[in-house]
Amino acid sequence: MTDIKSLNLAELTAALKNLGEPQFRAKQIFVWLHKGVRGFDAMTNIPKQLRDRLNADFYVTAPELASRQVSAEDGTLKYLWRLGDGETVESVVMSYNHGNTICISTQVGCRQGCVFCASTLGGLVRNLAPSEMLDQVLFAQSDCGKRISNIVLMGIGEPLDNFDNVLRFLELVSHADGLNIGMRHISLSTCGLTEKIDKLGDLGLQLTLSVSLHAPDDATRGGIMPINRTHNVAELMDACRRYFAKTGRRISYEYAMIDGVNDTAEHARRLVKLLRGSGSHLNLILLNDVAERPLKPSRRENADAFTKILGSGNINFTFRRRLGRDIDAACGQLRRKTK
Ligand code: SAH
Repeated sequence: MTDIKSLNLAELTAALKNLGEPQFRAKQIFVWLHKGVRGFDAMTNIPKQLRDRLNADFYVTAPELASRQVSAEDGTLKYLWRLGDGETVESVVMSYNHGNTICISTQVGCRQGCVFCASTLGGLVRNLAPSEMLDQVLFAQSDCGKRISNIVLMGIGEPLDNFDNVLRFLELVSHADGLNIGMRHISLSTCGLTEKIDKLGDLGLQLTLSVSLHAPDDATRGGIMPINRTHNVAELMDACRRYFAKTGRRISYEYAMIDGVNDTAEHARRLVKLLRGSGSHLNLILLNDVAERPLKPSRRENADAFTKILGSGNINFTFRRRLGRDIDAACGQLRRKTK
């Protein structure tokens, strides 16, 4: 059985040709799949005989909505989806003045082991298929009744650790006959898999690359992000420079401020040195609570002193609001729920 929604239009066309079907059928089916139908029988302009043949060779993924939570503070929505094999992932829909953004998961669990993040607690279970990433957008949109205009690959998982499926998802979600969400409305976040950053850069996509930096030096970063032990800060910054040179897209760095860990004046000064002149943007956020982790967000006075140093160092930065914290939907709080 083949996961039909993970096919692109060319593959779908070839598959239908194999069944002796004309080319226009592929486009009809593609359009239905990208509308979020739950099966072939909903495809009313496809003859019954063909639907039966499709049912024999292909399946249509459609997650079950296991739970939906709404933040009383800011209206952020968190979805827990149950996938075909019973595994679960979460997605979050946030509303801003400029539109609605969905944060999607790319893997069931995560193997990166960042010490401040809930997503990695049970390790990696499996990659998500392209269809399973697309489904988060399709089914959240139909549930919430609002048009989703932006996508961030910042939920559970490391997108560049599921490279081929993520790329296929990007192709599908930006397709003119599908959801048609342009690359400039998509952000992909990575903890810093440098070889994959190079590979992505070669494609010259116009998406925004977000890099989870969280510390300007190897001692600090290596202590909280295991990836830094094999791909250190210097290598990461080199890969980011190459990426910027190839794509012309400025990079966003993420920095979660953790009390006593990465928030001293010395860290701020090193960060200035590291980012000065790179044409990048820094997103600061206060660490969100993760019950299993002893780490705390920076104290206000330390965060203020930190940002003052960044300001006088001419670093381009934003202090981000933390949305959905009352429902554990904020950065680093998403997790796989066990059955
Ligand atoms: N694996 C990718 C995608 C996850 S994005 C990556 O690491 O970038 C999720 C973002 O939330 C990352 O920037 C991550 O470092 C950050 N994050 C993780 N735990 C957090 C926490 N407790 N508080 C604030 N941000 C956190």
